[in-house]
Amino acid sequence: MDKVYNPRAIEEKWQRYWEQNKVFKVSEDPNRKKYYLLEMFPYPSGRIHMGHVRNYTIGDVVARFMMMRGYNVLHPMGWDAFGMPAENAALQSKTHPHDWTYQNIDTMRQQLKRMGFSYDWDRELATCDLIYYKWEQWLFLKMFERDLVYRRKSLVNWCVSCQTVLANEQVESGLCWRCKNEVAQKELAQWFFRITRYADELLDSLETLKGWPERVTTMQRNWIGKSYGTEIDFAIENSAEKITVFTTRPDTLYGATFMSLAPENPLAIKLAQGTAQQESVRTFIERILKQDKTVRSSEDLEKEGVFTGACCINPVSGFKMPVYVANFVLMEYGTGAVMAVPTHDQRDFEFTKKYGLELTVVIQPEDILLDPKTMDSAYVDDGIMVNSQQFNGMKNTAAMEKITEHLVQQGLGRKAVNFRLKDWGISRQRYWGNPIPIIYCDACGIVPVPENNLPVVLPKDVMITGMGQSPLAGCPEFVNTSCPVCGKPAKRETDTMDTFVESSWYFARYACPEFDQGPLDADPVRYWMPVDQYIGGIEHAVLHLLYARFFTKVLRDLGLVAVDEPFVNLLTQGMVCKETQRCETHGWLYPEDVDNGLCRQCGKPAEVGRTEKMSKSTRNVVDPEQLIQKYGADTARLFCLFASPPEKDLEWSDQGVDGAYRFLARVWRLVSEFREEIMNAGCLPEAEIADATVRDIRRKTHQTIKKVTADIGERFHFNTAISAVMELVNLLYQFNPREINNQHAWSVFREAVEAVILLLSPMVPHACEELWQELGSSETLINRGWPTFDPLMAEADEVVIVIQVNGKLRGQITVNAKAPEEEVKKQAFACDKVQPWVAGKEIKKVITVPGKLINIVVK
Ligand SMILES: [Zn+2]
Ligand SMILES: [Zn+2]
Ligand SMILES: [Zn+2]
Repeated sequence: MDKVYNPRAIEEKWQRYWEQNKVFKVSEDPNRKKYYLLEMFPYPSGRIHMGHVRNYTIGDVVARFMMMRGYNVLHPMGWDAFGMPAENAALQSKTHPHDWTYQNIDTMRQQLKRMGFSYDWDRELATCDLIYYKWEQWLFLKMFERDLVYRRKSLVNWCVSCQTVLANEQVESGLCWRCKNEVAQKELAQWFFRITRYADELLDSLETLKGWPERVTTMQRNWIGKSYGTEIDFAIENSAEKITVFTTRPDTLYGATFMSLAPENPLAIKLAQGTAQQESVRTFIERILKQDKTVRSSEDLEKEGVFTGACCINPVSGFKMPVYVANFVLMEYGTGAVMAVPTHDQRDFEFTKKYGLELTVVIQPEDILLDPKTMDSAYVDDGIMVNSQQFNGMKNTAAMEKITEHLVQQGLGRKAVNFRLKDWGISRQRYWGNPIPIIYCDACGIVPVPENNLPVVLPKDVMITGMGQSPLAGCPEFVNTSCPVCGKPAKRETDTMDTFVESSWYFARYACPEFDQGPLDADPVRYWMPVDQYIGGIEHAVLHLLYARFFTKVLRDLGLVAVDEPFVNLLTQGMVCKETQRCETHGWLYPEDVDNGLCRQCGKPAEVGRTEKMSKSTRNVVDPEQLIQKYGADTARLFCLFASPPEKDLEWSDQGVDGAYRFLARVWRLVSEFREEIMNAGCLPEAEIADATVRDIRRKTHQTIKKVTADIGERFHFNTAISAVMELVNLLYQFNPREINNQHAWSVFREAVEAVILLLSPMVPHACEELWQELGSSETLINRGWPTFDPLMAEADEVVIVIQVNGKLRGQITVNAKAPEEEVKKQAFACDKVQPWVAGKEIKKVITVPGKLINIVVK
């Protein structure tokens, strides 16, 4: 055995061994308990980064741990392979998106294999594989049959100079990312998934997700945004049209003095038509539509608007309300129109102050008298109704119901529920995606592609220019087809699906990645689903995780899965961060561009900036490949796990990496130093262990097994688990079994060293497999199983008892863990530090918490 730890020599050997022996290949086995562990699959962008390394290492530890505990563990890997970067790369490097994607997959697969992850590679899938997107098209058709898919016009970001639709991510502060011209809004017919049909269920079943971080379920709850309220109709003066609003505050209706429309609301332009306001309304709308919606919905947005020239009538007070278009009203919420009550809504209040509109107080607090002339902010709390006709004098909370009843009786309104959640627009005017299986026929209209004509193959021979329509539209062989109903010439849909569609069901497909009779094969899917543990970034808290939940419910209703929810437990890991460095001449610097704090190019000092998420744009990145070359995969894994708990951000530290490597070298030396003796050490003899040091080692071993088992199994606290093993290793270094040199010493030493290897093996599997083999075993650690501990053995010999007098800490004593209570009390009273507080006092009572605390209550 090598005296020195040499990861290069062992890591690739074990990776080959696992692969050749298909150690991680699984199949359905009804006699074994299954465990499905899944990390969010990567986008094949080119190379793996430290974020991947961390995410997949966390998952790998859990997978290996569960394998060792005897579970039948499904741990698959695949590629979220459609998407825009492939098209951008095609423009830049003239590589076809297909080739670019599959080349990247090959590179990244190799890199992941080099990390030693325990994937069942036989289940690998890429969402751009024909067989995968074919069955997704089939799902689209099933959803179409069930009216879960529909087409309507909706606004998209449009770059006039590039003549193309832009995704939200391609709009950078209102400008086209490519040509830097202003982005406009354009109406286009698009396909939508009717996710709102499942809004109530998506909300209600959040309650069942006990294994999800509360932060994530809260974000989903807010995103779905269910609210109960009243819909109220407002007649428009001199018009047959009306404006309907949704409000959760019908009690303030008498105080509504004007109306605000979202710039997207088609009524806005319509009302201004032919009035003197027409031009200013048009320019205002154009300007606002370019702004980011998150900015528009922020509280400190400067409120602004423009009068449309029209008025509507308050249905209860008869007040003539001018209709405005306002920047802070969004079409996505309610009806895209808001009755403005400036006295009781802060945004309306600010707007009114700017434009000098009327204010009427309708809710009076009990302590002060509100006067519109002196109010400096809206009053939004409860109070007594005033200026509200027959509702005056009521509590406003009671008036909500009463005013709604009144509106219902008069036919002016109705009770309503509103969701913030909107239907999911899935049309993308891009090439590298799944073609939407629809045909347009002049005679028959919208015709779904018949099932037996699937798949609609994404053609390879297209021109990608980044300009104009979707590249598919410029491909006549694709576009021109015949109508499946009447046989006449017809045209194909040229949009592709949002790539979030692929990631909405891939987890179920891993149960049967090669199945070609349908998207999902019932038996394996029933066996493996749901995913027991899902691991990924918090940035997916809403969209991906909500869409996946929606799809699971649709798949269930199609009879394809038997579960309501896809992911039982969710872990959202933190980011990998590193300090940034900058040279005043050369800008952001890569770590390797800095030598001794100086810019390598010009020798100027590199300014050290903030620590933030590793990112290519700020160059504060570490390439995992370099790390592996220098230290090996096990060190990279150990560092990621030890540096912080998984849900927290990890701060990069070169010293930390070094420390991880040194620890592994230390474990290695421990084994190589005593290898022969360990191998020759027999089983532990029955007789009581005479030597206290040997007893201590044994106890520490069992305590460590207990702690690591709980830290990994219950909490995913790999960092504290590793610390515990480090403590045991330190103890073993202090202990020299050659000095005692009896059978007890050697067998206890052997037990301890074996525990170290087994406990570390899910985290640093290569080194552990090698050490295990060096100690004479021919089986892999996965089959060896997880070590167990003897609870009695793990109990401490001595415990520290804290002593309080009248609840105040006064001292502490160390006692034998098995000492009787009376004996412990006696020692507590005898304690030097406690004596002065109890001597000569009347003892009222003594409260004991066994093994922890004694509280003496004196008069
Ligand atoms: Zn442009
Ligand atoms: Zn037809
Ligand atoms: Zn420089």
